Amino acid sequence: MKLLVVGGAGYIGSHTVRQLRAAGHDVVVLDNLSSGHPEALPPEVTLVKADLLDAEAVKAALNAHQPDAVIHFAALIEVGESMRAPGRYYRNNVLGSLNLLQAIVETRKIPLVFSSTAAVYGTTDAVPIPETATKQPESVYGETKWMTEQMIHAFGTAHGLPYTILRYFNVCGAAPGGTIGEAHANKTHLIELACLTALGQREKMMIFGDDYPTPDGTCIRDYVHVQDLADAHVLAVEALHGGGQVATTYNVGLGHGFSVREVLDAVDAVVGTPLTRELAPRRAGDPPRLVADANLIVKELGFSPKFTDLKEIVATAWEWHRTHPHGFDQ
Ligand code: UDP
Repeated sequence: MKLLVVGGAGYIGSHTVRQLRAAGHDVVVLDNLSSGHPEALPPEVTLVKADLLDAEAVKAALNAHQPDAVIHFAALIEVGESMRAPGRYYRNNVLGSLNLLQAIVETRKIPLVFSSTAAVYGTTDAVPIPETATKQPESVYGETKWMTEQMIHAFGTAHGLPYTILRYFNVCGAAPGGTIGEAHANKTHLIELACLTALGQREKMMIFGDDYPTPDGTCIRDYVHVQDLADAHVLAVEALHGGGQVATTYNVGLGHGFSVREVLDAVDAVVGTPLTRELAPRRAGDPPRLVADANLIVKELGFSPKFTDLKEIVATAWEWHRTHPHGFDQ
């Protein structure tokens, strides 16, 4: 298959490009490089530098490269920033996706795989969270993803556009071998921050609250390895292309969670020295427990995550950060 990967130079996009190449697919990446890294792409992959807000450029890319399917990752992803600058998020994430959908139905009507998030659910009592749980996004970021899901659904119904939506839980880790990994300008994720603390780039790790109703009092998250998530995209796009898939929306997670303390213990064990920890107040908007019910993607797409051991997951992140302490800016 020939795939157009929109936002393919980012963290999850670049790992997916690697796994698509490993599965024998041709890849063209469209990315505005606002946060992506061209260095994260294999040399044989064509990179089209374009913004989804430039509708003509998106149509031109589809016409020029004639892909068999599109995988769409391009989005702004910071919850806190989305609350301070909602306009940027609605414009970039919703309007950008609308331009892409419009271009797809006007040019080729090819299948679409869309990158969504567990943030569409908000706080829910239904844990593990099934795909059918109520959608009550608590941030503008989550809202933009939920709005885009609904847009895709409407385009799918109106224009017969085949699509699959993948809702990710906590994505982490790096490709084994440490060649590519997480390199966001604004770092907020627990495992990345812990690795950078271990490298001495930060003084200590803050634990945001230890009075949650969980066994050790810290929040529990479902940490899915980025390479397993990338494989989920390969499965989804291949199933869509083969016309054999049933559901339209899948959670992607391990189906079980780890607490903040368990994650920090794993980092200590992998790094070999304990990080300084300090208890801090709860972070606004953190639900106590977010764990995927991932049975549907296992059953229907044969998703079979390889990274289920927390220390192994952390070890891949550590290998990347240890060998690339400043990300792609060496
Ligand atoms: N967390 C923490 N200290 C940090 C960063 C995160 O205690 O320095 C906690 C955070 O409050 C949440 C969990 O770690 O309970 C995972 O947070 P992360 O930002 O990695 O992902 P999120 O669940 O927000 O998508």
